[in-house]
Amino acid sequence: MRILVIEDERKVASFIKHGLEEERYIVETTSDGISGLEMAMNNQYDGIVLDIMLPGKDGFTLLSELRDAGISTPVLMLTARGTTEDRVQGLDLGADDYLPKPFSFEELAARLRAILRRSSPEKSTKLRCGDLELDTVSHLAFRFGKEIELTTKEYALLEYLIRNRNRILSRSTITQHVWKHNFDPESNIIDVYIKRLRSKVDREGAKPLIQSIRGVGYRIREIANEE
Ligand code: CA
Repeated sequence: MRILVIEDERKVASFIKHGLEEERYIVETTSDGISGLEMAMNNQYDGIVLDIMLPGKDGFTLLSELRDAGISTPVLMLTARGTTEDRVQGLDLGADDYLPKPFSFEELAARLRAILRRSSPEKSTKLRCGDLELDTVSHLAFRFGKEIELTTKEYALLEYLIRNRNRILSRSTITQHVWKHNFDPESNIIDVYIKRLRSKVDREGAKPLIQSIRGVGYRIREIANEE
């Protein structure tokens, strides 16, 4: 899952970024409202963490312009403690939740998971595809009940595939959700990662779940028939 953090306090931004990266999210940060809006408009994020007081453009204006543009990416707003007006205003402008500062990382992570779940057809914290299971809280993957050791990137890719299981995903769609914006679209990195993922997920003897769709991209599905 790819997350954008718009926060001008460098310490807070880096605290959130490192925490979320440990939780296996792909994280991009920016410290001003103008570039934040531009990034949110031009990239496919799965969620946005948005501060209110920002240089360039404040969080409320940013949120309202984002929603006016028809972009419904889930937004978690960071508000000052005790200001009911801020929370009400944020929610009315289309924020999905708010978190008063100062906050614990655990709470931020849990609230983020909750808004991501709400926006997804998948309400459980466990994602399944046949006998493959992903625990989105512990960020572990299992097949036939046995843990599969994955790197952060492999996990992010597998989670994205499973959230969209049975759908054919183009390389560029996968890139938009799993890689950062400075990614070279000409590179074959997706194919390289899919290959690695297959060697771990679709082990010998197991029914292959990850399919290549020639000329299009990839799909994970429960019953892998011939193409
Ligand atoms: Ca601020």
